Amino acid sequence: MKVNVNKDACIGCGACASVCDKVFAIGDEGFATVIVEEVPEEEKENVVAAMEGCPTSAISEQKEEN
Ligand code: SF4
Repeated sequence: MKVNVNKDACIGCGACASVCDKVFAIGDEGFATVIVEEVPEEEKENVVAAMEGCPTSAISEQKEEN
């Protein structure tokens, strides 16, 4: 599983990073960034919670390319 943050939608609230600091961090620009290439298996539940909890729905799953 891979995820993206849409920086145009992100308001930098920090909710995702507090739910899942292994995957999301607030970068220098004040917006969330994804800090891992691939979401670790044990973090998937937290990532889904972060996606659902994001107030602007800025986090989306990146579909695997075939
Ligand atoms: S929860 Fe959403 S709006 Fe808040 S910092 Fe994370 S991606 Fe940005």
